[in-house]
Amino acid sequence: MKSILFAKNIQELFFQLKNNKELTVVGGCTELNELPEKSISVYGIPDLSRITRHERFLEIGPGATLAQILTIGQTHLPTVLHDALLSIANPIIRNMATIGGNICTEGHRHTLFAPLLALDTKLEFRNQTETRIEPLQSIKKVPEGFVLTDIRIPLLYPEVSIFRRIGPEHAITQHSASFVFLGDTERNSLVDVKLAFAGPFVFRSKNLENSLIGHRLPLTKKDIDEIQTMVEKEFDLASTDQMISDVVRQQFLNLTRYSFEQLT
Ligand SMILES: Cc1cc2nc3c(=O)[nH]c(=O)nc-3n(C[C@H](O)[C@H](O)[C@H](O)COP(=O)(O)OP(=O)(O)OC[C@H]3O[C@@H](n4cnc5c(N)ncnc54)[C@H](O)[C@@H]3O)c2cc1C
Repeated sequence: MKSILFAKNIQELFFQLKNNKELTVVGGCTELNELPEKSISVYGIPDLSRITRHERFLEIGPGATLAQILTIGQTHLPTVLHDALLSIANPIIRNMATIGGNICTEGHRHTLFAPLLALDTKLEFRNQTETRIEPLQSIKKVPEGFVLTDIRIPLLYPEVSIFRRIGPEHAITQHSASFVFLGDTERNSLVDVKLAFAGPFVFRSKNLENSLIGHRLPLTKKDIDEIQTMVEKEFDLASTDQMISDVVRQQFLNLTRYSFEQLT
């Protein structure tokens, strides 16, 4: 028989994990087609569901539900994060689905991944004895034996913020992906740019972004063509041997062009 445990606090979670090596850590279980034999949920653990708004970043526990995060309000959340949260599933699922589950799902990256990546989110993982803080960009999967315990999201409000879904609305299939563009300008030049894609694989190139910082504005058609060629080259390199359809690739490139056109 399958069993799911609920812990009162973080100490109890780690106590259970120490004494029962077969336990899988879960959130709201909306992602899992089949429940593991034995699981323990972070959902409802107050220490792991807290949302704290600091001056420069948002600190969210992995057990916070998507609905709970949306209650912070549109004006207090980075636009791309707010739009991405609202695009996920429906209000009933969002009441159970956790941010931790959205990030930790293995394989195909889910809707929040690209916005969190573009915002330079950092993740805290813990086991009984050790705490590790890693940028989301460097995470391929949850480290063996660790639990995601905290998510730190910089509060960025750039002039141009674009989030778009590729593939079906309000559901995840193998054709799903998310696209994010953040662009900031100052006195006719580009001071910050972030471009992220996540779905069948993850794309973000800091080299590319850095090479664009300082570019004079407005961008001309020739500038955009040149940028587009650079992006295309980097994206194709990153997607070699990845399961990505021509349609998804083309949509990514169209969205990139559209985003840079907002800087003309
Ligand atoms: C009808 C429907 C529509 C959906 N639409 C979307 C959509 O549009 N976009 C989208 O992104 N998703 C969608 N989903 C999938 C899912 O609801 C979300 O991705 C959700 O955020 C997953 O969170 P969860 O808490 O339910 O994860 P769970 O199912 O509980 O867990 C998912 C995975 O994460 C691991 N995990 C969870 N928490 C932790 C932790 N703290 N530490 C380590 N590992 C952990 C689990 O072991 C598991 O492998 C949809 C689901 C349904 C049923």
